[in-house]
Amino acid sequence: MGKPHIPFPKQGTTKEEILRIMHAAREKDIRWQDGRAFSLIYHAGEALDELLKTVTLLFFSENGLNPTAFPSLQRFEAEVVSMVADLLNGDENTVGNMTSGGTESILMAVKAARDWGQANRPNIQPPEIILPRSAHPAFEKAAHYFGLKVIHTPLRHDFRANPQAIRQAITPNTVLIVGSAPAYPHGVVDPIPELAKIAQQAGVLCHVDACVGGFMLPFVERLGYPVPPFDFRVPGVTSISADLHKYGYAAKGASVILYRHSHLRRYQLFACTDWPGGIYASGAMTGTRPAGPIAAAWAALKFLGEDGYLEITKKVMETVMNIRAGIANIPGITILGNPEMGVMALAGEGVDIYEVGDEMGLRGWHLDRQQFPPSLHLTINALHVGMEQAFLDDLAVAVARARRLTLHKIANKVLVYGTRWLTRLLPDRLVSTLTTKASGLLAGSGGGLPNRTAAMYGMMGTLPNRGDLKELVLDLVEGFTRVPANDD
Ligand SMILES: *Cc1c(COP(=O)(O)O)cnc(C)c1O
Repeated sequence: MGKPHIPFPKQGTTKEEILRIMHAAREKDIRWQDGRAFSLIYHAGEALDELLKTVTLLFFSENGLNPTAFPSLQRFEAEVVSMVADLLNGDENTVGNMTSGGTESILMAVKAARDWGQANRPNIQPPEIILPRSAHPAFEKAAHYFGLKVIHTPLRHDFRANPQAIRQAITPNTVLIVGSAPAYPHGVVDPIPELAKIAQQAGVLCHVDACVGGFMLPFVERLGYPVPPFDFRVPGVTSISADLHKYGYAAKGASVILYRHSHLRRYQLFACTDWPGGIYASGAMTGTRPAGPIAAAWAALKFLGEDGYLEITKKVMETVMNIRAGIANIPGITILGNPEMGVMALAGEGVDIYEVGDEMGLRGWHLDRQQFPPSLHLTINALHVGMEQAFLDDLAVAVARARRLTLHKIANKVLVYGTRWLTRLLPDRLVSTLTTKASGLLAGSGGGLPNRTAAMYGMMGTLPNRGDLKELVLDLVEGFTRVPANDD
């Protein structure tokens, strides 16, 4: 029997050596500091960063599992929940919890809706959740984990959820309708008042996913830009998720899930009273909980305050407007729909947008690929203020190059044709792994692997069966925790 590739270390390693290895390992990581990466990093400057690091260290050892042991953490969490409830126009009845991120907040909202449904209508089997196509995959994950059935509804032409389709999708088993403010793919806010009204009329719950928008839209609105109603001011909205670690500019591992009434949140909670280890209870998914993100979130809200967030949001929106104006002046590309804040999708018009993505990659810009329709994703935040001209200059060149390549490819149909599967899931650096696997699956596809990802996306379209694609992606996920054969 072979052994795992990396043996358990026999002796300890010095601090110096560990730091040397780790610094070297970081060299291939995306360099986000120069504002050329989108969606993974939210950064509001050195002063806040220093504070977040200080308070994270201060609460490095504490554990958020048991609030009675650390009243400080209990206070910070309760105050964060209250501050966010106020920001999103809740009232004295609004309750909630801090979680490790948007996914956990969404898992909790779906779990609460399921248990609420089962408590109130005993014969629903399985409970159903209505998801507009643009809703975040965390809802699919929740349904997958908790045994709900997902009913998908198509988007309107403006990429927002379609209330009519949602109304038609309601059945006696429906427990929850989901809307996003905004949805991640195109950055547009769903018509929440209409969705919440449908939910009210049907007697079901309505969750607003403000994970990405919760800490930006309120300030965008206060600055006078148009923002459709999405928060607790809208009757029928029963829960809201909002991520502190995105536009809240807190440290990673921090989100909030809010409910309009405590009787709904009750369905989220867990208690086990029969364990020899004692009575065990938890508010959300995790047991042991790092205290750093709780402390850092509290510090971020207090440090910036409304003034600070307004100042940041003002600059970000100016950057957004400059980028949108610049894009409008580049023929061959367009922003999809009419996004309200810093999240948007860039599509091609007669230009293969994936080629634009490759060309931008060659110029050091990391843009995620999306599908249905093909597009590139931008999340513009404080990190990107001031980089707009450099971005637009490179984008104009990238589009011109892609246009030439597109023409070339039309004469060369083999690589052009193909669906847009996978395109949003995979960061550039994973695509080569996948290309290797895909070429194995595509018997007789010949040796030469394409080194440009746009060609790769075309090739993926020739996979005989989409079930294979899901397996390929799961292979890739398994690979994340495997040590590669010849790496040190
Ligand atoms: C980021 C995001 C999520 C998931 O949040 P994580 O913190 O990545 O788990 C859910 N919904 C939307 C709209 C998001 O942008």
